[in-house]
Amino acid sequence: MVNYLRAAYRLYAVKKHLYWSRDRLLRHQTVELKRVINYAFSHVPYWHDKFKKVGLKPSDIKTAKDLNKLPIMNKGEFRMNISQMVSTRFDRNMLKKVFTSGSTGQPLTLYLSPVEDEFRKARHLRANIFCGQKMRDNWVVITSPYRFEKIQRLSRLLKIYAMNTLSVYDSPSKQLISVAKLKPDVLEGYSSSLYLLAREVERQGVDAIRPRVMFSGAELIDYSYRRLIEKVFDAPLYDQYATNEFERMAWQCPDKTAYHIDADALIIQFVDKDGEEVSPGERGEVVCTSLFNYAMPLIRYAVGDNGVGSAEERCSCGVNFPLMKMVEGRSDSILYLPDGRPLSPLAFIYAMQLFRLFECIEQWRVVQERQNSLRFDVKKVNVNVDERSMETELVGHIRKVLNLDSDVEVEVHFVNEIPVDKSGKMMKVISKS
Ligand SMILES: [Zn+2]
Repeated sequence: MVNYLRAAYRLYAVKKHLYWSRDRLLRHQTVELKRVINYAFSHVPYWHDKFKKVGLKPSDIKTAKDLNKLPIMNKGEFRMNISQMVSTRFDRNMLKKVFTSGSTGQPLTLYLSPVEDEFRKARHLRANIFCGQKMRDNWVVITSPYRFEKIQRLSRLLKIYAMNTLSVYDSPSKQLISVAKLKPDVLEGYSSSLYLLAREVERQGVDAIRPRVMFSGAELIDYSYRRLIEKVFDAPLYDQYATNEFERMAWQCPDKTAYHIDADALIIQFVDKDGEEVSPGERGEVVCTSLFNYAMPLIRYAVGDNGVGSAEERCSCGVNFPLMKMVEGRSDSILYLPDGRPLSPLAFIYAMQLFRLFECIEQWRVVQERQNSLRFDVKKVNVNVDERSMETELVGHIRKVLNLDSDVEVEVHFVNEIPVDKSGKMMKVISKS
């Protein structure tokens, strides 16, 4: 159970970190990293054994760069070792469990102490507040029902950062009834949920919903989604990058050109497939080390996403936290062509946005059934568009923009609806090959 009141108090402590100089931030990271590494070695069986196995002592890890000496932990290894990864200093029954899904879909359990949980919530609020959320705002979040948490009665009574949650699995028309009643100042959800809600608002011609600010996350934000959401609700939408393991990891500030990494709580590295750090500006797999998880330390953990670190030192918003240039989709939805070329989800999104008839498409996704076959499921805006000519033009366009060899088949299927997947997200790029 989260006590937002105490989280709010904690917030005052973390808010000032935003304005630390880069040097101050690095000093903080170094101190906290050493503390976590020493603790993990002393009190967590998995990490004790791991250090022994690779021949390292805790004193070998002094800076973020030294983390490269440690192997990367992927979700498969995490799942195999969960019981060994909880600190012996904590009683597991007293810890909060957070569920996340592994690369092959099996659930993983993460354990958090109440203090760690509050710290996560405080960081969540910090980004929201920086972008305009206020203490007594009506805050409505569309999310998976398993994330619903009881709000302490006191918080609800005082209405301090009190969150109202709606289920992502409810139909947009049902969500709209609740949203119209709750009249949010702050509206938050997966980008696809906000998009579907915005469409419903537009369809019904409702104009009583006037949030001041909106937050999206958990999915790649498609610019056509953003445009529609911001237009319908007439408010800015800030995208945030979060995972169940680390909660908020990076977030867009009002400058909106990149995402600030929560570097007072996390060390994020971008690595190539050999685990080597790539240069700023190059795409790499996101590997994260938590500076605040003690019940279950997470060190050099590959979350399964790709991103690009930025060399920019400053942002016009005044926050000195380092920037990620963009957040790419889940790495399991990168498609590999028969010749081995990877195509990121963004490649498909950009290709679709360049399509002459893009305005005629309401929803789409691409499914790679076999390595040499791409199927585009398309839901049209207007049933009057000629399917045959649209199909021919789309296939030609995709082939040209993505520079596909003749051995890759491209098919278009016109569909009435594109369902959300089990986790409640609407993935645009799915690989089944
Ligand atoms: Zn900024």
